[in-house]
Amino acid sequence: MPSNNLLESILSSLSNEVRAEVLKLISREGPLSFTEIMKSLDMNPKSDAGKFGYHLRMLTEAELLRSDESSGKYYLTLLGEDVADFIYGVEDAVRRKKGEMLVRTSSLTIEPFDRKKIVDALMREASVPRKLAESISKETEDRLKKLQVRYLTAALIREFVNAILLEKGLEEYRHVLTRLGQPVYDVTTTIKNAAFREYPSLERVHALAGDAVLEEYMLLKVLPRTIADAHLCGAIHLNNANYWVLRPADIQHDIRPILEGKAPADGTGLSLPAHFSPKTLQGALYATNCLLNSTSICVSNSQSLGFFNIFLAPYIKGLKGNEIRSILRDFLYDLNAKFNGILGSTVAFNVELEIPEFLENVKCVGLDGAGGIYGDYYEASLRLLEAFLDVLKEPDGASKPLLNPAVFVKIRKKALVTGTAKDCLKKAYRLAEKWGTVYFVNHTLPWQQDNVFYNSDLSRVDSSWKDWESGTLRVGALDNVTINLPRIAYESNGDDDRLMERIRELLELSREALSIKRQILEERIFSDKLLPLYRESIDGSSYFRLTDSPGIISYVGLPEAVRHHTGLDMADSEDALKLATKIVGLMDNYTAQVAPSMRLLSSSITFEPAARRLTSLDVAGGFLKPKSASGSTEHSNLPLTTAIPLKTRLKVEEAFQQITKGGHLFDIRLDEPFPTEDVLANYTKRIVETTGIGLLTFTRDYTYCWHCKSISYRFRAKCPRCGYDGNRLVLYTKTFGKYKPSKMWGIDDREFATTHQRFKL
Ligand SMILES: [Zn+2]
Repeated sequence: MPSNNLLESILSSLSNEVRAEVLKLISREGPLSFTEIMKSLDMNPKSDAGKFGYHLRMLTEAELLRSDESSGKYYLTLLGEDVADFIYGVEDAVRRKKGEMLVRTSSLTIEPFDRKKIVDALMREASVPRKLAESISKETEDRLKKLQVRYLTAALIREFVNAILLEKGLEEYRHVLTRLGQPVYDVTTTIKNAAFREYPSLERVHALAGDAVLEEYMLLKVLPRTIADAHLCGAIHLNNANYWVLRPADIQHDIRPILEGKAPADGTGLSLPAHFSPKTLQGALYATNCLLNSTSICVSNSQSLGFFNIFLAPYIKGLKGNEIRSILRDFLYDLNAKFNGILGSTVAFNVELEIPEFLENVKCVGLDGAGGIYGDYYEASLRLLEAFLDVLKEPDGASKPLLNPAVFVKIRKKALVTGTAKDCLKKAYRLAEKWGTVYFVNHTLPWQQDNVFYNSDLSRVDSSWKDWESGTLRVGALDNVTINLPRIAYESNGDDDRLMERIRELLELSREALSIKRQILEERIFSDKLLPLYRESIDGSSYFRLTDSPGIISYVGLPEAVRHHTGLDMADSEDALKLATKIVGLMDNYTAQVAPSMRLLSSSITFEPAARRLTSLDVAGGFLKPKSASGSTEHSNLPLTTAIPLKTRLKVEEAFQQITKGGHLFDIRLDEPFPTEDVLANYTKRIVETTGIGLLTFTRDYTYCWHCKSISYRFRAKCPRCGYDGNRLVLYTKTFGKYKPSKMWGIDDREFATTHQRFKL
């Protein structure tokens, strides 16, 4: 057949829909018989056979189709394949022309493009007026058609809509319509780097992906633009941004409602096997563990138990010392299995060396009222505490320390003179010498009030708010906003008034952020019902005392700010120290003035390392030259990397602890040879009796060798016992106030651990 005739016959064979369908069918499915083709095209093999035979003949004559003699099946020629592809192409073009684009939606279905959905979304999500929504949707459709996009996703359509909104100057609508999420590249990077950044954990990878969305959500939707911008540009730092919209940072538990059976430990009673009100020490500790386990996802930082050894003292009746230790050992192993540092939240126990006056006549709970009053349990509480400290001092089966809980030993006036309490304290010093996991609370200072509790993120609450119960139990830091002090100093150019004015502005901004946090938590607890235990009603109020819970305002870079402003160092200039206390004093006064409408506390402690981020933003903003940019001082009022004598540190720290009632720590990092327990005891006694330090701890560095399972003190590159020098030597020290093995160190932890000064007492 001459070629122009062939073309003509191809074109005429395509002029019929049935013939086009036959080509597409065989191209899709491969060779098919006469009847198979008819069936697939829904034709009747009897009545339609004649007409169908005609169609097949035409396709064969146009050299698009051939039949195989042996199998009797029809197959496409090479020309036929090309023509079938051509038909698909024409159809795609027609579909696009008609607007029939297919879209992969966010609920993972594939649907034809539907302009109405854009109209609906604009009206539902951003309250765009209908007429405007119609016009925007039409424009979006036209532009997408022109582009001939092959793979259309709901996300892409949204980007188009947003671009059009921007072009039309409708930025406010765009703001609420935007999508939250991460670029594909970032998610890949997270997965690939997870094992190198910190302890490898799948949960952590999953969490990081979710963190990104919820942090953006906070910045875009929950906080006003002024606050979000202040965070983004580094004037302030919102701690726990990933969970800001979901949960508080801390809680100080009251275990009495759990022991009494008034509240199920998980808040619902559905997810946990529930004990009756426990009658034994095992039962009471089991209930305590349930409480800590189920609350671990309801705090960003840490949980603390107050009066641990007093509230549990009635349960040791009739038990011998070794029995108590054995029960406590099981409890602590369980606790350390759960709070292993991988997911971040930690636990602190506040323990007492005497029964505080306000508790003496309070009825014991949990033993059906048969327990009498707590005043009867002085001896028992100390016995329990001694056993507890003994067990914590023991290494585990592989010679490692039990790092949980962080123990806060509260030294009230009587403890330094009474015999039994002194024995208990002695055990605490031994624990300090062995593992360093203990903190000493100087409760003799008037500003510590009747009662004070610290949490393991070093936040602090005391009973000056209402009373010892409402002020310190079932409350927790809502969260922490950190003020970047050096930035303020750079902006103030040596002008005192401007410096103070700008601090006031940022305090106001921080207050607003924390007040929003409180509102958000109220929604999460009471209307979204996401935190069942917090909502549970105990004697007329919810378990978590939301309005009694403090927001924390902290700072970084105090010495850098003062040096920039005055040219003087806090360590050796009275004037510099005076300005520093004036700055922190202003924060303290501000928080006091805001009461009682809101409970705010100022703190020298951030909940997460913030200085690196803030300093790099100081550089990016042109406030600081890249060369001079080491991170500002955090977690201390004097730089920890420079050799300032311990005495000077003590003097400076003392000036600040009483005006940082939301958190502080005098972390005494000691060198080897480590002082004996007697030296630690004398030093602590002197601090308690003669200084204004409210919280101190001794930190000892040690190295654990996985190879021979032994501990050696100070950081080692080689095990002194077996000579092992591989990567299974684990270093331990306090970074940002809390012991962490080097396997779990992030970049900031590593820097903290390796660059900070050690002292001798
Ligand atoms: Zn070894």
